Parts: sequence; C-alpha cells; structure tokens
Amino acid sequence: MLSCKEVSLLTSKSMDTTLTRRERLAVHLHLLYCRGCTRFRDQLQFLRRAAQRSSKTLSAGTVRLPAAARDRIQAALRRER
Ligand SMILES: [Zn+2]
Repeated sequence: MLSCKEVSLLTSKSMDTTLTRRERLAVHLHLLYCRGCTRFRDQLQFLRRAAQRSSKTLSAGTVRLPAAARDRIQAALRRER
C-alpha cells in the first residue's frame, strides 16, 4: 500500500505524464479509503482546469484593460518617446 505522501506525489505526476498501470491501480486503491488524498486530487484537478481556462482566456485576447488604464499606459508611452 502507498502512503499519502507517495499518492500525492503520483497524483501530481499524473498531471504531467501518464502513470504506469501499476501506479494508477495503487493510487486508485488508496483513494478508495483516503479522503485526504481524494480531496487533494480534486483540488489539483480544479487548479489545473482553472489554469487552463485562464490561459485560454488570455491567449484568446478576451481580457481587456479598462479604458482608463489604457489611456494611462498610452500617455506614459508617449512621454517615453
Ligand atoms: Zn492518503
């Protein structure tokens, strides 16, 4: 049986790479009885999805500065010239 520390490391690792079949099975069995690690996994997945959504929003150019902030930046850039 894996310890909680080992499961948390494997859970983190699973976000970047594919675990071996043996690792996946061991993690799955541990999560059946450990609420703490299940919660940790859920939080990690939540953070990952939030980061992905944030990244998509930023790369899609849908985030806009307020007009006042744009004006201040443009004024500062004009002063630099
Ligand atoms: Zn655990």
